[in-house]
Amino acid sequence: MAWEAVIGLEVHVQLNTKTKIFCSCRNEFGADPNTNVCPVCLGFPGVLPVFNEKVLESAVKVGLALNCHIASYSKFDRKNYFYPDLPKAYQISQYDMPIAEDGYIDIVLEDGVKRIGIKRVHMEEDAGKLIHGQGVSFVDYNRTGVPLLEIVSEPDMRSPEEAYAYLVSLKQIIRYLGVSDCDMEKGSLRCDANISVRKKGEDSFGTKTEIKNLNSFKGVRAALEYEIKRHISLIEAGEKVVQETRLWDASRQITQGMRSKEEAHDYRYFPDPDLLPLVVDKEYVERCRSSLPEMPSAREARLKSQYNITDYDAMVICQEKDWADYFEEAVKSVRNPKKCANLMITMLFEQLNERQVDIKDVNVPADYIGRLVDLWDEGKVNNVAAKQVLIEMLDTGKAPERIVEEKGLLQVSDESKLEEFAREAIEKNPKVVDDYRSGKRNAVMFLVGQVMKLSRGKANPQKVRELLVRLIETQ
Ligand code: ADP
Ligand code: MG
Ligand code: ZN
Repeated sequence: MAWEAVIGLEVHVQLNTKTKIFCSCRNEFGADPNTNVCPVCLGFPGVLPVFNEKVLESAVKVGLALNCHIASYSKFDRKNYFYPDLPKAYQISQYDMPIAEDGYIDIVLEDGVKRIGIKRVHMEEDAGKLIHGQGVSFVDYNRTGVPLLEIVSEPDMRSPEEAYAYLVSLKQIIRYLGVSDCDMEKGSLRCDANISVRKKGEDSFGTKTEIKNLNSFKGVRAALEYEIKRHISLIEAGEKVVQETRLWDASRQITQGMRSKEEAHDYRYFPDPDLLPLVVDKEYVERCRSSLPEMPSAREARLKSQYNITDYDAMVICQEKDWADYFEEAVKSVRNPKKCANLMITMLFEQLNERQVDIKDVNVPADYIGRLVDLWDEGKVNNVAAKQVLIEMLDTGKAPERIVEEKGLLQVSDESKLEEFAREAIEKNPKVVDDYRSGKRNAVMFLVGQVMKLSRGKANPQKVRELLVRLIETQ
């Protein structure tokens, strides 16, 4: 019988609030070590934490976007353990009464949509960061007290691909909310993966292992693939899977067990006596709900029907909220929205990717893109010229009409001019014409190329082709 994997993910997301969760230190990435610290986040004796309400707002928004029930009463607990990156020797977290529970997200797979349960979302503070050198370790406390949300899924995923799709959706939703950039490279999204296997058709779960030290979505997928194989071969060899935490070694593409001593945790959770319980009333929740942006899947569906673009176009454009916003701005006055989607996906995104710039930082107003789309759609510029205009626009911020004029990019659609070029190409290439006549239909493409050259790239290749065929066949 076939094996089946059971996967549940624990994701930590750093919130991008201006200040930390329990003090007024700045929450910023990349500052000099130990510059954003104070007695509270350094855990000096006698100090008191003060809860940053912005963290609650972000947590409630995430909870709602993940279709969770928001707790009207929740609290903070201390999770006690000793480690050099944790100056208080306890982390303030939420244990048995998290801010949000029982939600789900719908992920899109090749064979349809699948619902993945969200067990809970809770708030906690981040620990510091250890930096290991040769025979020496440093600690940077800038990160202690940075607000985190921990989002725990139900064990509902059945393959590494599903886990990957879940992470992509989760990141997309959180980025739409604007509460975190979810950048795994910067550590603002971290993921631990729990995995077990069982025979297909079985109801109970097998023994799980937890994989840590994952630093990309692809790494999560690869680590799960590795771990599934490892579990299966252990069981098939008559051995048992040991419940443990394992570390992913990306350079060797394997998981390795941590020493089991580090596993024996007893965190002695208890309510933090320095913080009041959180009472969240309905009105507050509704205020948060009404401030949610249109979520990715809803927006995708709307763009598809409103602008009559394809599933694929809508999916790509809605990957990022900023892209969808830009598209809707650009498309406002455009006659052919399909072409606008086309230009954004095939030309603009390619350019942004090459230049490594974000759409927010682009110096081209969205309506310039719309105007370029119209020029293209009306046949005033061809594909090649449209791309040239786009590049020039990104370089200089000039308006599309001006670039077309300055660079003389107006498409030659003057029939007599085109015919002149076509006749010239035919006369100069009798052999190619013979090839075409003897059945090599593709030979005409060479002639199209010649005409494009003669028109200095400004002809419409489709028209040129039709014209050449007509001329050759009537000669
Ligand atoms: P623990 O108490 O060990 O932390 P939890 O119940 O809190 O376990 O679950 C932690 C994560 O592990 C969740 O994402 C959950 O979906 C997942 N999980 C729980 N049991 C299994 C299992 N048998 N196989 C795979 N994942 C599991
Ligand atoms: Mg747990
Ligand atoms: Zn501080």
